[in-house]
Amino acid sequence: MIGSAVAERIARKADRVSGMRVAHVSSTFYGGGVTELLTPLTLMMNAMGIDTDWHLIQGTPGFFGCTKKLHNTLQGEKLSLSDAERAIYEEVVSENAARLHLEDDDAIIVHDPQPLPLISHFPARETPWLWQCHVDLSSPFAPVWSYLRGFVDQYNTAIFSLPEYAQDLGTTQHFVPPAIDPFSPKNGELSEKETGEFLANYKIPTDRPLVVQISRFDRWKDPQGVIHAFRKAREQVDCTLVLVGNNASDDPEGEAILEELKNSIEEGIVIIAVDDPILVNALQRRAAVVLQKSLREGFGLTVTEAMWKGAAVIGGDVGGIRHQIKDGWNGFLVKTSDEAAARIVEVLKDPQLREQLGSRARATVREKFLMSRLLEDWLDLLIRFGRPEV
Ligand code: UDP
Repeated sequence: MIGSAVAERIARKADRVSGMRVAHVSSTFYGGGVTELLTPLTLMMNAMGIDTDWHLIQGTPGFFGCTKKLHNTLQGEKLSLSDAERAIYEEVVSENAARLHLEDDDAIIVHDPQPLPLISHFPARETPWLWQCHVDLSSPFAPVWSYLRGFVDQYNTAIFSLPEYAQDLGTTQHFVPPAIDPFSPKNGELSEKETGEFLANYKIPTDRPLVVQISRFDRWKDPQGVIHAFRKAREQVDCTLVLVGNNASDDPEGEAILEELKNSIEEGIVIIAVDDPILVNALQRRAAVVLQKSLREGFGLTVTEAMWKGAAVIGGDVGGIRHQIKDGWNGFLVKTSDEAAARIVEVLKDPQLREQLGSRARATVREKFLMSRLLEDWLDLLIRFGRPEV
């Protein structure tokens, strides 16, 4: 899939860091984009001879309530974190630090705000610490960001998904967009027959074109806006809306949002709360249109996944979605639900347009957003920050 010259280049880079011990630290094995990245990335790093661990930090519901608040403020919401909340956040991370033995590692890679303060508990540092932030940092709420920045500045570098998330920091910054694993159950080939069987198992009607959004139940993903767009589009073309969502174990808000959405269930709207990668695969393949109408989006792996399957994707004109979709070329970008409705109608009425957007979308992902590229970016970072003698 990547060609022998690229494979050889990656192997040569891997040789330079083989034998290193690297630890990734995140807050959940389950749900959300970080898990989606680390599952294949940690396997590939091990396969390339880098001894790579993946640790989780544990926390109480109160802790994850605080970290979700941090996540929301990083994406621009104006909420302040009380002294008591800061204390819970820092205390739980300090307990985790006591349980994690990272002293023997050659590089430590910390993901997102949940485990960010860990670094303060390993003062005698000879090894590099790298912080990767996966959220949309285009307009973080300043008071909370300046609090978190105190931790970020202790790291050897901060890694963001896109250049426009660059911040004023006392440490260096790198930009690494995410990628997908084309061989995973979620992204691998699936025949039409298997796709049909999967949808039938979930009792998803396929007699009308499917409009699909797959996302954690999170207001930044704008599920209400999707329902509004669907209702409006349906006045002109008959279709079915399928909303699928799982719930990350570090996201305490999902349940309430799902409950709210259930009130919108009516004929033609299917809402499924399940974590099933093959259902995601089948829906992205069968959908006439895939929506990702986010209001903020660090990157948007669901967009990449759908584009890889040749779907016509209509995405919110925000964050990482903009880096994947070139409006009108390989998908559409929209600012409002009304615009989304108009694009749904346009795509549903024009199968040729759908075909054309989809084939360009797949080519975009092949060129820029496959796992081999992400692995190489990480090898470059490890070469740069890893043991100097290697
Ligand atoms: N996902 C899933 N099932 C769902 C909802 C999401 O498997 O019901 C996956 C989705 O396929 C993608 C990841 O979770 O791989 C979400 O990543 P994204 O970057 O789109 O958003 P995040 O959840 O990190 O904000």
